[in-house]
Amino acid sequence: MAKVLCVLYDDPVDGYPKTYARDDLPHLDGYPGGQTLPTPAGTDFTPGHLLGSVSGELGLRKYLEERGHTLVVTSDKEGENSEFDRELVDADIVISQPFWPAYLTPERFAKAEKLKIAITAGIGSDHVDLDSAIERGVTVAEVTYCNSISVAEHVVMMILGLVRDYIPAYEWVKKGGWNIADVVKRSYDLEGMHVGTVAAGRIGLAVLRRLAPFDVHLHYTDRHRLPKEIEESLNLTWHDSTADMAPVCDVITINAPLHPETEGMFDDKLISTMKRGAYLINTARAKIADRDAIVRALESGQLAGYAGDVWYPQPAPADHPWRTMPHHGMTPHMSGSSLSAQARYAAGTREILESFFAGTPIRDEYLIVDGGGLAGTGAHSYSTNK
Ligand code: NDP
Repeated sequence: MAKVLCVLYDDPVDGYPKTYARDDLPHLDGYPGGQTLPTPAGTDFTPGHLLGSVSGELGLRKYLEERGHTLVVTSDKEGENSEFDRELVDADIVISQPFWPAYLTPERFAKAEKLKIAITAGIGSDHVDLDSAIERGVTVAEVTYCNSISVAEHVVMMILGLVRDYIPAYEWVKKGGWNIADVVKRSYDLEGMHVGTVAAGRIGLAVLRRLAPFDVHLHYTDRHRLPKEIEESLNLTWHDSTADMAPVCDVITINAPLHPETEGMFDDKLISTMKRGAYLINTARAKIADRDAIVRALESGQLAGYAGDVWYPQPAPADHPWRTMPHHGMTPHMSGSSLSAQARYAAGTREILESFFAGTPIRDEYLIVDGGGLAGTGAHSYSTNK
């Protein structure tokens, strides 16, 4: 029987919800491109309920305990005396989320001698040291596509929020003001701007598709070029590097995984090549941007705005400079954890567990590391230090 250690974010400060804003979720037939939604044999939760926090338990307790497994759920993940560290020593399975990542460092891998699989209940497994997983034969799997569209919607919202200066306008209303000039002095139309994405995978392409009707000029860079029909239908300009794309864009959105190729990509040097007053939206991973270079660029006016929901570390400390830098539109890491997304990643986590316990193959598209190497989606989208 397995011990499953699940790290989730805390419940709301006013307690686990008893009621919800809406009664149901829209039905989806599948993901764009034809991938099917998660197909577990069953689920024990109500779609639309809060599953991603500690009391929601990803809806897994009944399923696991009925089969004799042990489920430990905690939000306490920092430091050697955390519940996560204490429980890790004999855990067979770790489930964690990018929103509240239980960082599986080489040191923690060394302690977790029984660990067989690390499941990301979401997308983005950079909180797991992939080199250690490869060395130790630990499988890493994530619920590919579960929240890609959720993030794409958030990116579009953040682009519009920054360009039109929505957040300061909203704040004036809350303060009782009617300060039109104060907000319109930084408010522009998106129409006609050049918008580029670093990576046109599931999220990046969905952002491009959603922005096309805004009559903007669309750009992208990616390691693999999109099919010609897609480039033509969206009127995309392809660039063979981020360095080539950066100087021509008014808005850049980052949609690549964090891995050795992308870490620290948006540093002082790259940002200095962008148009003065460009906007940068990063919902991918904080470390793709140099933290202090972003602050400097906002203070100098080189960037007109920065928004995103990814920080390092997470949760971000109270004195993280991105909380107080000018012209930002940051949120906590939430874009991929809407109630809609939670239903999909809870079901996908259950599907991965069912495959793991049955000894049947985990869907290739869910695999990041398997059999001692990058596998599935991991082989396509990630690189390692080795
Ligand atoms: P995909 O795997 O579908 O797409 C990632 C794309 O990044 C691939 O097309 C890949 O290229 C490309 N890529 C990798 N390295 C580079 C590089 N050096 N330069 C340019 N492109 C590169 O993933 P998703 O679109 O679903 O997700 C992307 C990332 O977004 C995740 O890894 C995660 O970090 C983040 N994310 C954030 C969430 C949030 O809540 N904020 C939720 C979900 C994801 P190719 O495949 O052609 O090699």
